[in-house]
Amino acid sequence: MQKILVSRCLLGQRVRYDGGAHGPFGLLERWQQQGRIVPLCPEVAGGLPTPRAPAEIAGGQGAQVLDGHLPVLTIEGEDVTAAFVDGAEQACALVARHAIRIALLKARSPSCGNRENYDGTFSGTKVVGEGVTAAALRRIGVQVFSEEELPAAEAALMALEHGTSGTIDLG
Ligand code: SF4
Repeated sequence: MQKILVSRCLLGQRVRYDGGAHGPFGLLERWQQQGRIVPLCPEVAGGLPTPRAPAEIAGGQGAQVLDGHLPVLTIEGEDVTAAFVDGAEQACALVARHAIRIALLKARSPSCGNRENYDGTFSGTKVVGEGVTAAALRRIGVQVFSEEELPAAEAALMALEHGTSGTIDLG
């Protein structure tokens, strides 16, 4: 059975920077019952506390952080790059351990965002980009979806499981 890496905050676990969580999501509850989910909060795994100061990446590019070109800074100016990179490395280790090829991560997070991110000005401005963990996972070939793409994530999972190209057999 294919497993899937999922952001802990999408599972109702209160690990968000502000102590909040998201969900419930019916699909995730089903995957949990099936034993498919490998949960991770990269920021907490990297050693950051909850609650914690919000953090952003200038330009929203997690790949630039991985390459050492940009830091992750909190709104107070603290450099939390090491914790973010540590969390991303733990995500990659979990993926290798469980032969995971799909992740479902929280949209627009500086760790987990897969398509958009905030631009580093703490003004709510969104840019095309991705979080540090999402970038690291993508580099090793993991398909990264967000909670806004649940049907696509399920289709990709079923395609992997059934060895098809992405179509779901509804029969
Ligand atoms: Fe943790 Fe990612 Fe959720 Fe942020 S978005 S709380 S890093 S799991």
